Amino acid sequence: MGDCSVKVAVRVRPFNSREKEEGAELCVEMRGNTTKVRNKENGTIKEFHYDYSYWSHDGFNEDPTTGILTKASPSSQYADQQTVFNDIGVGVLDNAWQGYHCCLFAYGQTGSGKSYSMVGYGSNKGIIPIACEEVFIRISQRASPFIECKVSASMLEIYNEQVQDLLQPPQNRVKGGLKIREDPKKGVFVEGLIEQPCSSYEEISAVLDRGNKSRTVAATQMNATSSRAHTVLTISFTQIFYDEATGKPLNRKQSNINLVDLAGSERAAKTGATGDRLQEGSNINKSLSSLGKVITALAKRSSGQLAKGEVIPYRESKLTRILQNALGGNSMTTMIAAISPATFNYDETISTLRYADAVKSIKNQAVVNETPQE
Ligand code: ADP
Ligand code: MG
Repeated sequence: MGDCSVKVAVRVRPFNSREKEEGAELCVEMRGNTTKVRNKENGTIKEFHYDYSYWSHDGFNEDPTTGILTKASPSSQYADQQTVFNDIGVGVLDNAWQGYHCCLFAYGQTGSGKSYSMVGYGSNKGIIPIACEEVFIRISQRASPFIECKVSASMLEIYNEQVQDLLQPPQNRVKGGLKIREDPKKGVFVEGLIEQPCSSYEEISAVLDRGNKSRTVAATQMNATSSRAHTVLTISFTQIFYDEATGKPLNRKQSNINLVDLAGSERAAKTGATGDRLQEGSNINKSLSSLGKVITALAKRSSGQLAKGEVIPYRESKLTRILQNALGGNSMTTMIAAISPATFNYDETISTLRYADAVKSIKNQAVVNETPQE
């Protein structure tokens, strides 16, 4: 069994243009692995500690032609995309290579930098595209006639508590969403989800593009929608080992890499939701609040405080069912807590960091998924 406590990273983004215009005040400070957040009203400071802390607020240069952000000087504290990948992305891939299931999820309010870390924008590629590239680099570097590697990808969205296949053309979508099922061998899975085999980085990039294009677009508030849906990309990585003498298959390792960009964690009130949007809001809150309950229960279990007969409420929402294996189960799990630097977002930032504290105390029981071949 591997080192199975859930790893937590925190990352703080630069001020956005609106915050700059409004003269936003900085309320976050990072030193080593300590994050401090200052309450402007009463001057109190709250301290948090995580496995990784990424200061991406300032100290960077933007290349005028490529738009790539890098450290302004060697001594600058700025954490760029590659730095984050080198810790978190490499950790995920190393675990997958050993045959562990892995899960990486980004949590935080809308606009805090979840998608920036997971997917990235323009040339500032995030963990997902760099990891996809790295998967095929690693496969080609290890080219051995006695190891066969297979990669496939699936991509789903949970929106209004309905699961939709992002690789399916919109006209083929199932009304009411796809069913979640459980199998003694496979564990929890989504019925009928397309698993697209990929044999190169180009192929998997095309699959990701296809999935990203079909993310829900609500007619009325186009730009706000992505913040209300949870997106789960699963890369399945299989290694088949052959006997060098006989050429017969010896064993197989299979790992699911779940990469999750969660919906914004802000409370509905702040987004000014009404009507349909409110319905969306409450369902998202359902999935996210269920996630919160699952995390609280798992943290209690890890410290031996779960009451007798108390169950982990995985079945309360689609998100927690799909992530059941990743949370408190057979998986190496990492969370990125994305936070805003601005005083205006103090409450949301504290709530994200408290969530991250609870996640930190969860211990999983990941085992290598290895099956001997007859
Ligand atoms: P979310 O997915 O949490 O809603 P985004 O990732 O879309 O938020 O980030 C909001 C904005 O902030 C985007 O314009 C993005 O480019 C910028 N941003 C977020 N994180 C960073 C970062 N670490 N460095 C530079 N810009 C960032
Ligand atoms: Mg986003």
